[in-house]
Amino acid sequence: PLGEVVLPAHVEHWARTDPRRPAIVFGDDTLTYADLDDAHRRLAGWMHRHGVGAGDRVAVYLGNSPQFVVAFLAILRLGAVHVPVNPMFQPAELAYEINDSTPRVIVTSTALSATVDRARDRIGDVPLLLVDGPEWGEALAVEPYDGRADDLDALAALNYTGGTTGLPKGCQHTQRHMVYTAASAAGAAGYEPGAGYVSLCYLPIFWIAGEDLGILLPIVLGGTVVLMPRWDATAVLESIERHGVKVVVGTVENYLELLDHPQMPERDLSSLSDPQAVSFIRKLTPEVRARWAEAVPGSVLRESSYGMTETHTIDCVPYGFAADDHDLRAEPVFCGVPVPGTDIAVVSFETAEPLPIGEVGEIIVRSPSVTTGYWNNPEATAAQLRDGWIHTGDNGRFDEEGCLHYLGRAKEMIKVKGMSVFPAEIEMMLAQHPAVDSAAVVPTDDPDTGQRPVAFVTVREPVDAATLTTWARENMAGYKVPVVSVIDAFPMTATGKIRKNELAEAAREAVAVR
Ligand code: ATP
Ligand code: MG
Repeated sequence: PLGEVVLPAHVEHWARTDPRRPAIVFGDDTLTYADLDDAHRRLAGWMHRHGVGAGDRVAVYLGNSPQFVVAFLAILRLGAVHVPVNPMFQPAELAYEINDSTPRVIVTSTALSATVDRARDRIGDVPLLLVDGPEWGEALAVEPYDGRADDLDALAALNYTGGTTGLPKGCQHTQRHMVYTAASAAGAAGYEPGAGYVSLCYLPIFWIAGEDLGILLPIVLGGTVVLMPRWDATAVLESIERHGVKVVVGTVENYLELLDHPQMPERDLSSLSDPQAVSFIRKLTPEVRARWAEAVPGSVLRESSYGMTETHTIDCVPYGFAADDHDLRAEPVFCGVPVPGTDIAVVSFETAEPLPIGEVGEIIVRSPSVTTGYWNNPEATAAQLRDGWIHTGDNGRFDEEGCLHYLGRAKEMIKVKGMSVFPAEIEMMLAQHPAVDSAAVVPTDDPDTGQRPVAFVTVREPVDAATLTTWARENMAGYKVPVVSVIDAFPMTATGKIRKNELAEAAREAVAVR
């Protein structure tokens, strides 16, 4: 049943069963389920009066906040289409997604409306609803909207991809996709519905992984989310203690910051040792996992899931997920098993035929949450969505235990003298050097070998490139050993991915200088 009910109906249910249960904690503000139910119905009433109806797009250009969640639910209640827009976007990027999705209204804040104003000549006169302006107060005083759109399969959201490989594409999603994602992740992780589910979310909720963690899972489970506007290690430690947080998702850099934080030893983080507690992490290394296990006894870090905007994320969970001794594979790249209801196959890029176990090819995914297609982009839809399978453009392989290994984007694969080199593998190997924080590997052309890998690394303690090169030679086959360059920080995309095309430029220079 969890997977068969629209989101606003979940909110209604929890508001009836336990109205005072906190749904969202944001700093010193708490919205109970009764508050959330009332606020989103009133906002739906206001939007309805302003002509928003089924199928109309509504852009939400906002940072993490309770108003974001209220707007999201109001849009779904009306059967309208939620279009979250990255609040870090500048006028050109904003104009691209606004013109592509043509919303009836943009929900935003006074601060961000300055950027909308700078995009005005490109986007026309779309009206704004400011969540910190007088209309918001008016909206929440409007009579609650009494209808509720109940079609799980109607278009409910356009979620734009990260734009790592080109212009962002609007993935069409329905409420069925949303509730399936939450229910399958909860099923795989063993989360139980009720007040005991408390997660902490500082990932941006405009981004689909943040939406899953910060909105969908808490609402479907009737739990609480401690929402934060951004990563802040001190606030994270305080919140875990104060609210008994059980689910945290972060990067390896986030966890290193917590481990090195002066307040770490004093804080009571025992909620993370609860059997239902899960801490996810991207690019988990055995070293970080061992340090965490010592610092918070009983709490185990797990690798983050494999997924993408097209599939509403959370396609895989780590192998041995439910077991206490969840095993980090010898091969240091992400791997995991599909969540219930999700099928994953590895096929030949050329023929689309399934490949034998162990062979590297394209990862394809079929599940109840795969996009129905890209908005306004039939060419991309035809190229990437075939017979219900999304062709991800990612390299992967299965092992004997049915575990999928993610080896990076096919476009990023490097060919050295005809041999395949996977950047993700070199990145994880380098990250295991004690002085290295993080590594990003890109190709550069080489007259002798065709291509060769160049690794940019950020470090925790002083170390020179020569030392890291020697270390790499001792830990990987010669053709994989990269040219190493130590840098201060990576150029990042808004969703926290490294801008590899910029690094590839820098790689050409780094190699030319040598
Ligand atoms: P665009 O499609 O516009 O180029 P994008 O692919 O970066 O942007 P997202 O949908 O946010 O947009 O990212 C999905 C991609 O992220 C996947 O295709 C895969 O390459 C990568 N990815 C997925 N899971 C992981 C993981 N656990 N660790 C590292 N990278 C991952
Ligand atoms: Mg993509």
